[in-house]
Amino acid sequence: MHFFVRTPLLRPVLLRSSFSKRTMSTHNHLSDDCIFCKIIKGNIPSMKLVETDKTFSFMDIDPLSEGHMLVIPKYHAEFFHQVPDEYLADALPVAKKIAAAAKLDQYNVLQNNGKLANQAVPHVHFHVIPKPNEETGLGVRWKPIKPSQDALKAKYEEVKGNL
Ligand code: AMP
Ligand code: ZN
Repeated sequence: MHFFVRTPLLRPVLLRSSFSKRTMSTHNHLSDDCIFCKIIKGNIPSMKLVETDKTFSFMDIDPLSEGHMLVIPKYHAEFFHQVPDEYLADALPVAKKIAAAAKLDQYNVLQNNGKLANQAVPHVHFHVIPKPNEETGLGVRWKPIKPSQDALKAKYEEVKGNL
């Protein structure tokens, strides 16, 4: 929205309404029935950390360790590959900023996609999870599947062919 005002010198000056602009860029791509979209809109309270035009970050309500934080794009998408590049480009510097502010020493940045991959909230989110000791924080089960060189190469060719 634009409108004119008169300065003390009676020169008309074009002003841009920062309120309407912010509301549009902030809420355009959100869903009505998503808990994280509601947090972005302020309809559900959260412990907000950093907010930009494209990103929102806040404390996880059920932390795996003290200082567990979340970073979400202001774009409703269930999967990582569905989020536009400009939202992803904005999100990681926010994760870096809050990790630095929390003075984390060792930690995981985690982003789950799909129920099998432990995703409970179907709005893309990056976890920043402090790893202060063996017991608390993220536990990772890392069991390599040891494919043959042929199988490895076949998958490589398949993915590369789709790029
Ligand atoms: P995921 O399993 O990757 O989908 O993680 C979802 C995360 O969102 C969990 O760590 C929850 O504790 C967190 N969470 C769910 N609801 C809220 C909420 N209202 N405020 C803050 N964190 C939440
Ligand atoms: Zn959402």
